[in-house]
Amino acid sequence: MSFHFIKDQDFPAFLSGLIKARTVVGPVAKTSRQQEKFVFARLTDPAALRLDYDVTILPPKKEFFPPKQNLLLFDGPRVTPGIEPEEKVLFGVHPYDMKALDMTDALFREKNEDRNYTAHREAATVVVSSVQKVSPRAFWASIGTEVKPKGHDAWLTKVAGGCVYEAVTAKGEALLQHGKFAAASEEQKKAARRADEEAARQCPEKLQGTSASNAKKVRAAFSREELWTKFAQDCFSCGSCNTVCPTCYCFDVQDWWHVDQNTGGRTRTWDSCLTEDFAKISLGAGAQENFREERAERFRHRFMRKAAYLNEKLGGPACVGCGRCSAACTADIADPTAVINSIPEA
Ligand code: SF4
Ligand code: SF4
Repeated sequence: MSFHFIKDQDFPAFLSGLIKARTVVGPVAKTSRQQEKFVFARLTDPAALRLDYDVTILPPKKEFFPPKQNLLLFDGPRVTPGIEPEEKVLFGVHPYDMKALDMTDALFREKNEDRNYTAHREAATVVVSSVQKVSPRAFWASIGTEVKPKGHDAWLTKVAGGCVYEAVTAKGEALLQHGKFAAASEEQKKAARRADEEAARQCPEKLQGTSASNAKKVRAAFSREELWTKFAQDCFSCGSCNTVCPTCYCFDVQDWWHVDQNTGGRTRTWDSCLTEDFAKISLGAGAQENFREERAERFRHRFMRKAAYLNEKLGGPACVGCGRCSAACTADIADPTAVINSIPEA
């Protein structure tokens, strides 16, 4: 681990050098209906990078686990695997999204490793960027604080006059060659820590209790059907809360083929446990069963997954407090702070 400093005036040249040498993906603005939103996109112009973004519409996991991914293509007996990892730099990931990426790494690596994900992940260099502007629904400072962001290669923090760049791995160290860096002073390192603490203080929403107490009370509320029916009464079962979530990792796999009956493929797409068909299964002979038919059951399932079921495996809740679900829900009922805070203690 080593700490470096780059002056503001040297930053664009660093980014240009990086873009010339590698594929670089980072947060850029996307304006729609006079509203400025942000997305992770491939950078061609250094000026397009917006490290002052609040939150992106979709999380950066899409770079390794895209919404739609061909697992294989076939042409008669010839099969081409879909894994084509590209060496890229994912630049400007917020710390809460880094925590989510690390959770996704663990979940895709456990038992049968999913190379369709891990091959892409291993080919990437990930640079975290401290939060400069906090999103209006964020609560990352009060959830799962026992789990620290990890798995990144470098961490960049804006301070007066430039940025502190902490190289964490050899891959993070390798990026230094593209810019004019000096060793960071103790004062600059302290300023970077203060910037992170200040951002945490600005989180507008707050989850009460600890991860353990919340896991206990959410689990204990499983049989309180009247509670889940009330929470879910305005739910459209649209699945938006899942789609924008950095820790959701369910997918659907479909085989398809062209009319020639000889060529086709196998494709996976993101799936969503809030949608009506998610838990529908075939019983054969045209019969079906849906083991979470009611929207209250699906709504409850999401909260069991986020606050309780995965805690042991991940060391904390499967929610990083990004607030994307709260903002994406048309009915404004998906906010984990509103739901979990209002469940009575076990
Ligand atoms: S549940 Fe909501 S706040 Fe938590 S990580 Fe997912 S989208 Fe973010
Ligand atoms: S909680 Fe909100 S975002 Fe999620 S499925 Fe229901 S209506 Fe859609």
